[in-house]
Amino acid sequence: MNIGCHISIAGGIFNAPKNAIDLGCECFQIFSRSPQGGKAPELTPEVVKKFKAELKKYSLKNFYIHTPYYINFASVDNRIRYGSVSVVRDELERGNILGAKYVMTHLGTAKDLGRKVAIEKTIEMLKKTLDGYNGETKLILENSAGAGEIIGDDLSELAEIINGVDSPAIAGICLDTQHSFASGYDWRKFNVRAIHELPLLKKIDQEIGLETIKLFHANDTASPSAIPKKTVTPTSVKA
Ligand SMILES: [Zn+2]
Repeated sequence: MNIGCHISIAGGIFNAPKNAIDLGCECFQIFSRSPQGGKAPELTPEVVKKFKAELKKYSLKNFYIHTPYYINFASVDNRIRYGSVSVVRDELERGNILGAKYVMTHLGTAKDLGRKVAIEKTIEMLKKTLDGYNGETKLILENSAGAGEIIGDDLSELAEIINGVDSPAIAGICLDTQHSFASGYDWRKFNVRAIHELPLLKKIDQEIGLETIKLFHANDTASPSAIPKKTVTPTSVKA
């Protein structure tokens, strides 16, 4: 398993590999554009060449692109919903140009449509996002905190969406430990020596399949939203 963190692209995307190495990363994540919005910086052939040369120089094989924060595939606002489709597709295309392994995205909120319709809408919009896409960079979905009506706070919901979209362009999920903890997945008794005995992992395996987890976001947030709304407590842990 490789360990890395989020890396700034300040001054140019080609600065990211060195910044990652300076922090001791074996892999890294970036935003390829401002997460707040606005036009993405152009990936000119010179920029791409320089970025790839830096990756090679530091022997960094894998990096990942996180999509902006405003993605919402289940918004009733067409501008936001179709904007999400075009930005996620654009990030996949940009990831492909740069050689990213995965683009990861959150899905949005079900507060406009209600959970059932929001999931159907998300599947429909993800299909549009991936229509005709056959790049090397794959999409992975990230779970979010359950506060409010977030799509994908429950891993079985992410499984339902992945099955619904049914595209080889979706490789799996990024599991955010804090978001999952806030949604009732209790990691406090996590014991790597008892990995196959842990009811929590068995639950996750049943819900989505452990092989679907491509990345972990070991999230150290101090946000009050980290407090669990409901708790799934492992009933027995064997060492
Ligand atoms: Zn995320």
